[in-house]
Amino acid sequence: MGIQKTSLLLIDIEKLSKEFIHMKTEAQVLPNKLSELKSVLDIEVKDLDGLKQTLSQHQEGCGKLNQDITNLGTRKTESEERLTQITNQKEYQAAVKEVEAIKFQLEQREEQVKLEEERMSSLEKTVTEQDVIVTGHQKTFDEQQAQVNKLLKGIDSRIGDTQGRIDNLLGELPDSLKKVISKLETNKIFPFTADAQQNHVCGACHMSYPPQLIIDSVKTGDFQQCPNCFRILVPGTWAFETA
Ligand SMILES: [Zn+2]
Repeated sequence: MGIQKTSLLLIDIEKLSKEFIHMKTEAQVLPNKLSELKSVLDIEVKDLDGLKQTLSQHQEGCGKLNQDITNLGTRKTESEERLTQITNQKEYQAAVKEVEAIKFQLEQREEQVKLEEERMSSLEKTVTEQDVIVTGHQKTFDEQQAQVNKLLKGIDSRIGDTQGRIDNLLGELPDSLKKVISKLETNKIFPFTADAQQNHVCGACHMSYPPQLIIDSVKTGDFQQCPNCFRILVPGTWAFETA
């Protein structure tokens, strides 16, 4: 196989490898964004649950107060009935005092209930508002999750296609290069750029090439590896002219 065709193959492989890596990164980043959204949502749900719990504690407290009021009401009625049956002046005065004490307690409880009801109504309003917001955020999250899953499915299929295309191109390479590439990670191919030819610098790691490498490359017109990053240096236009 001519060096020109092999160079083009390597350049294609590099291009596909870059796409491959880009897609792999995208496939990792997408779920990360989603999990950030999820943790924000989790905090909102937790806050809302806390509010609901506070509200139910107030409701419970209010229920107890109302029970007290009912009991006090019964006691008041009983005491007032007893009052009508008492003939003894001293007992009568004591019973009146008892009725007054019950009335005072009743007023206190009613005042407390009123305050509790005001607090609860403000809490209920907050809970309702937060509920709407959190439900909206949950909906947005669900939609984004569905979208991300769809995107990921597409990316997975594109990753598979690209891997297949890379494998096919790799299969066309001369055995000597196949061996070198199989030892390298993906994307360790780098075209021998104009910059590298003129300034003798690796286009990937920017290391200056030893003069011997350039001499060998010019002499043989063959593929070299960067001594530093081990990328394959593909002869560029210069190689085509001299090949
Ligand atoms: Zn290099």
